[in-house]
Amino acid sequence: MKEEETDQTNGDEPPITDSELDPLAEYRRKRDPAATNEPFQDPPVLKGDARDAREGQFVVQLHHATRVHYDLRLEVAGVLESFAVPKGPSQNPADKRLAIHTEAHPMRYLDFEAVIPDGQYGAGPMIAWDRGRVRYPKTSPREGLENGKLSFELYGRRLRGGYTLIRTRGRGGRSFEGSKEAWLLIKKRDDEIDRERDVRERYPQSVYSGLTIEELPSAPERYDALLSSLAESGARRGTVAVENALSRPTFVKTLEVSANGVELRGARVLVYRRGSEVALYDSLGRSVEMFDELRRAFACLSTTSFVLDGEITCGSAAGLAARIAGAPIHAHAAHFRAFDLLSIGPYDLRSCPREERAQRLREVVPAESARALLSVAEPAGDAPRGPVLTVDDGAYGCVTVSVSPRVMDFVVVGESENELALASYVGARLRFRGSAPVSKDLRDALSLSRVDEGLSGLPPRFDPVAPQDVVRVRGTFIEHGVLEVEEVLGTSDVEVAYVTSGPVAAPLVNR
Ligand code: MN
Repeated sequence: MKEEETDQTNGDEPPITDSELDPLAEYRRKRDPAATNEPFQDPPVLKGDARDAREGQFVVQLHHATRVHYDLRLEVAGVLESFAVPKGPSQNPADKRLAIHTEAHPMRYLDFEAVIPDGQYGAGPMIAWDRGRVRYPKTSPREGLENGKLSFELYGRRLRGGYTLIRTRGRGGRSFEGSKEAWLLIKKRDDEIDRERDVRERYPQSVYSGLTIEELPSAPERYDALLSSLAESGARRGTVAVENALSRPTFVKTLEVSANGVELRGARVLVYRRGSEVALYDSLGRSVEMFDELRRAFACLSTTSFVLDGEITCGSAAGLAARIAGAPIHAHAAHFRAFDLLSIGPYDLRSCPREERAQRLREVVPAESARALLSVAEPAGDAPRGPVLTVDDGAYGCVTVSVSPRVMDFVVVGESENELALASYVGARLRFRGSAPVSKDLRDALSLSRVDEGLSGLPPRFDPVAPQDVVRVRGTFIEHGVLEVEEVLGTSDVEVAYVTSGPVAAPLVNR
């Protein structure tokens, strides 16, 4: 496409290009919203410091268009600055990879994985190959792009560490077909280099769907084949209601781990997908309105209708708590581990043998999708650190959670002569969980200010105190979710609002 010259320039003043006024103008000009499935979005309205933010999100997509290439897209000033890298990224600092600066893409492109229709710009399959956080340690990214040297650090699922982009030719701002800027993408020497293995070959699959780019176009046929095989096997038709799916777990104090148990490390969720609609429910059956990147990954699976049981983790308990409290996507990467499959399309699989459900589960969430957003849980090892979900060989619903003692934080909500009353949050409300012995030293370290009104459910032997102090204990939840404290470890720095220790991993609650 040829660009008409409309600006009259005079003197040394560079012309104001429309890409400065609207960084997405070229993106729109190249695409027909009625014919392509790519996302469109209004240009960002950013003021002051926000335009020079030193961190954001990134995506690398693998794109089989006219030429095979990887697209590296870095968040800069509210858009995704994009580079087409024919040979793709490398973790080897000896590699210098050509990177062509292409038009900026809208932020919604972070989630894009699809086959771009024939005849459209960039026609062909595209998978999301890596996604995560980008930081610009040296300069503002706009300055780096302007000056021809951009340093950045990637915190992705597959790409990690420092990189540099250096402009080699085509200086002159964003340019058009035929006169694009050429840059080199080079891995910095740091702890994340890998001279032996090719990161592209190690991880050929999408971080979202677990499909390779060769498999992506046949995703609809894969789903059809799955439905036909379920029909042939005589699977029972039926829907799975959220309230029925959440069988009330039984808490058993035991250190034994069943051979097919899986360790819980995060928050248990049920995932419902119907076409493009993805809904998450916490362990109490309430809708969870967050984890957009996981929703996107579920929406990319080739099975377009399913119900999954599993858990969401965010690196650590603190990471999960921060995301629940509203931390941005890039701050703590979320991951979903599937334990069980309840339904596919019109079929209710809960009465199928566990083994069959496990096998179907691997068809829905490709198990080989290493370092992706979704995975299938492997049986727990010998020494689990947290609660273990054991699923017996029979129908879905026979779930027990075996609990080994673990370190947890609780809010102090009452005191008696020799005990503290401990509580944790369920949603927005503190709930009494149990009691712990208190030493003089610990009592001195706490503020313990008496209040008139106690928490509902606080046993009468306690005098209520304001929920200001957090203590750390090693303990276990026994039957009926009662806390049994083995040892009081002392005070904790965790903020009261983040204390969500409970018999089931923290329920995910809408703020
Ligand atoms: Mn491309």
